[in-house]
Amino acid sequence: MHIVIAGGGFAGINAAKALGNKKDVKVTLIDKKNHHLFQPLLYQVAMAGLSPAEIAAPIRSLLSKYRNIRVLQTKLMDINQDENTIKTDFKDITYDYLILACGAKTTYFGNENWECNAPGLKTIEQATEIRRRVLTAFEDAERTDDPEMQKFHLTFVIVGGGPTGVELAGAIGEMSRFTLAKDFKNANPKLTRIILVEAGKNILNDFSRKLRERAVRDLEKLGVQVWTSSKVTDIDDKSVTIGNEKIQTANVLWAAGIKAFEPAKNLNPKTDYMGRIVVEKDLSIPGHKNIFVTGDLASFEQENIGLLPPLAPVAMQQGTFCAKNILREINGKERLGFAYKDKGKMATIGRSKAIVEVGKLKLSGFFAWLIWLVIHIYYLSGFKNKFFVFLNWSWSYLSFKKGARLILSKKWKSD
Ligand SMILES: Cc1cc2nc3c(=O)[nH]c(=O)nc-3n(C[C@H](O)[C@H](O)[C@H](O)COP(=O)(O)OP(=O)(O)OC[C@H]3O[C@@H](n4cnc5c(N)ncnc54)[C@H](O)[C@@H]3O)c2cc1C
Repeated sequence: MHIVIAGGGFAGINAAKALGNKKDVKVTLIDKKNHHLFQPLLYQVAMAGLSPAEIAAPIRSLLSKYRNIRVLQTKLMDINQDENTIKTDFKDITYDYLILACGAKTTYFGNENWECNAPGLKTIEQATEIRRRVLTAFEDAERTDDPEMQKFHLTFVIVGGGPTGVELAGAIGEMSRFTLAKDFKNANPKLTRIILVEAGKNILNDFSRKLRERAVRDLEKLGVQVWTSSKVTDIDDKSVTIGNEKIQTANVLWAAGIKAFEPAKNLNPKTDYMGRIVVEKDLSIPGHKNIFVTGDLASFEQENIGLLPPLAPVAMQQGTFCAKNILREINGKERLGFAYKDKGKMATIGRSKAIVEVGKLKLSGFFAWLIWLVIHIYYLSGFKNKFFVFLNWSWSYLSFKKGARLILSKKWKSD
């Protein structure tokens, strides 16, 4: 049996591992990138806390111990469901089962032209570009003696009050308070303005009221203004308009929404409001029993929960489940239905505070941050030695002694 997995993110890697070294199964995993990315820590690359290689690992090395898995860096272009083949930018590949795990991309809700002035955070390239913009803004503020220009350079607007927006806003707050105050002599940290904009009534809407309010208080202590019920109506290279208010800044970061990729357009699948493919209980596409969809690409409704959110644990559980279901079928057993086990949610605010909600358990502050840290290290599998990463990262993160504060040019050019 040949199982093709498209996408080496959380869902794809977990599916592959569950199929690794299994008898009578040959697996091909394709990904347009050569690395698996730990997206929950992307904001730390964007905020110069970690280097890209600390949160990304070659897919090939993660799966090298499995003799039956072949990894190809290539892009899924199309699916021919009648002939059980996928078209890639390299060659056509035939499958018996296909697992789609291509994830999602940033969406600007029809204003895609905003992207160049308000980068999203989904890839290493975007994270290093955000890092370049934020660090350059500090350098620009240092160069000028004009308070108005300093104000312009030190104004940051983050759009989207979900965990990513909160993490970015908190990290910029910490950076301006500590890094700017300590390492820069001319730029005035007091002129820094950080606005977190959310169109809905609350930031962190999935969390309980108590934790949401705690997060707002912690953000405000870091100098972040939280604007809820506020909609961005325009962005250009020198300003952002929120409702009727125009704010002068070139530092706008977008954390407002994601949309699923469209790898199966020609199947004409039913999709939800996020463009995710609506799947059956066994995660297959209705009418296509041998094509499964997992992770951010799948729209799965579960009793008592509703539509599952685009989260790493959902993707991991679906990837593993899907692989095991295929193995069941190959071994003559019936397929099972997927059921998500909710392991809770968490978000950090700055360097040493977080909120954690697991069922009725609600934690905040430093202790919650320690839990956040341990869980992230635990899942950062395959990334060097966990203990080493833990020590190194905790030290540089808490002490500000190190970090990856490098401004790299957008493109290579000779001097
Ligand atoms: C900044 C950020 C912070 C986050 N924080 C959290 C958090 O704290 N907790 C949490 O649970 N979740 C978090 N998430 C969400 C979580 O990362 C996603 O839910 C998870 O990555 C989804 O896994 P996936 O395998 O479906 O997709 P992905 O991990 O996105 O992987 C998709 C893979 O498919 C590849 N691909 C895409 N298109 C193609 C194609 N056409 N051909 C070949 N390959 C393709 C991509 O290169 C990628 O490797 C965060 C996401 C972001 C962006």
